[in-house]
Amino acid sequence: MPREATPYLVDLEELLSEDERIVWTSARDFGKRRIAPSIEAHYENGTFPKELIPEFGEMGFLGGSLEGYGCAGMNPVAYGLTMLELERQDSGIRSFCSVQSALVMYPIHAFGSDAQKEKWLPGMATGEKIGCFGLTEPNAGSDPGSMRTHAKQDGPNGDYIIDGQKFWITNSPLADVCLVWAKTLEHGSDTPVIRGFLVERGMKGLSTPETKGKLSMRASVTGEIVLDSVRVPKENMLPGISGLKGPLSCLTQARYGIGWGVLGAAMDVYERARSYTLDRVQFDKPLAAFQLTQQKLTELHNEIVKGALLAFHFGRLKQDGKLNPLQVSMLKRDNVRMALEAARTARSMLGGNGIMGEYGVMRHLCNLETVFTYEGTHEVHTLAIGRAITGHAAFA
Ligand SMILES: Cc1cc2nc3c(=O)[nH]c(=O)nc-3n(C[C@H](O)[C@H](O)[C@H](O)COP(=O)(O)OP(=O)(O)OC[C@H]3O[C@@H](n4cnc5c(N)ncnc54)[C@H](O)[C@@H]3O)c2cc1C
Repeated sequence: MPREATPYLVDLEELLSEDERIVWTSARDFGKRRIAPSIEAHYENGTFPKELIPEFGEMGFLGGSLEGYGCAGMNPVAYGLTMLELERQDSGIRSFCSVQSALVMYPIHAFGSDAQKEKWLPGMATGEKIGCFGLTEPNAGSDPGSMRTHAKQDGPNGDYIIDGQKFWITNSPLADVCLVWAKTLEHGSDTPVIRGFLVERGMKGLSTPETKGKLSMRASVTGEIVLDSVRVPKENMLPGISGLKGPLSCLTQARYGIGWGVLGAAMDVYERARSYTLDRVQFDKPLAAFQLTQQKLTELHNEIVKGALLAFHFGRLKQDGKLNPLQVSMLKRDNVRMALEAARTARSMLGGNGIMGEYGVMRHLCNLETVFTYEGTHEVHTLAIGRAITGHAAFA
């Protein structure tokens, strides 16, 4: 393969429509032009490039797969390719767009009232309004059904009073609206049901302190949602969904985007390791001319190609309405594992330079440790697939 050739034996572009190719090229160009120049500094300083949010909107990255309300209405493969290019730059940037799109805009679009859609979706599509998704709590991570946050109806208008605490919430310190999942009692029943509430910035009793000290996802803002008897009008509850399937269906959308996104991180570390080892000479030869290096590059290359073909196949299934949540678990689990291993291998191939910020590989490696854990941990997806294969649940 000549030095300047596309370093992949399977060209994904050949599988794409003309429109999908255009989306892919323009997202890649945007990433190189607008994200790459400042991402390392943002990562080092622990800041998110807020100035790019309106441009994410213009590019159609916010709610990109949704129809109407100013959203781009991309098909699942085109949407996946945008996630890939955002995460080629940094998992934190992809996380911002994933949360806004799949975890806040999607549920408002799918389960919201007309008034909720009109109020939030157009502004969220342009990036004027920012959302966050509050499911995890200090004592409810992998087991979100054990959440303690609760909502109780009060007064003649049927307002809800919400108390609780959400933890590890991407974008919460920036958010205009927090989608908070809480338990409530309905219709005189003793059994609580989970409902989604749109809690708005400025409501009394709401605060969103930032979580400091992360050594991963440093170019993404993470925080808490603290709810101290927040009074929320009943019109702010999502009317179209109840139970754990509400948040889980959002997570399925987001995990699909992650399955594509991490391919971008894996491609970036592979391409950097390839060009570094072609340039770097030791023992009078480029490192890429040694068998051990070639074995590593071959493994990275083959795993990326297989992951991309899986994402593409599942994208087409999604387009036909045939993709199921377990397949999405498989995509998220295996592509994240692959990308994390690729980043570790690439880091070693760059030797000492591999730990330096300017080479980008260590940043991807640190970010992917979070991606391994959030949106369903690697272990929890293993158990879900294991249950499907064996018929035995091994969760508890
Ligand atoms: C940077 C970042 C951003 C995040 N953003 C959001 C967000 O926007 N919104 C949101 O709601 N949440 C968010 N999360 C939370 C994330 O989804 C949780 O961290 C994740 O669900 C795991 O929960 P936990 O951290 O409490 O770990 P735990 O559930 O305590 O798990 C700890 C370990 O135990 C393992 N484990 C748990 N149960 C079992 C079992 N039955 N069998 C075997 N092993 C098990 C897990 O796989 C894991 O390895 C974010 C997290 C991070 C780090």
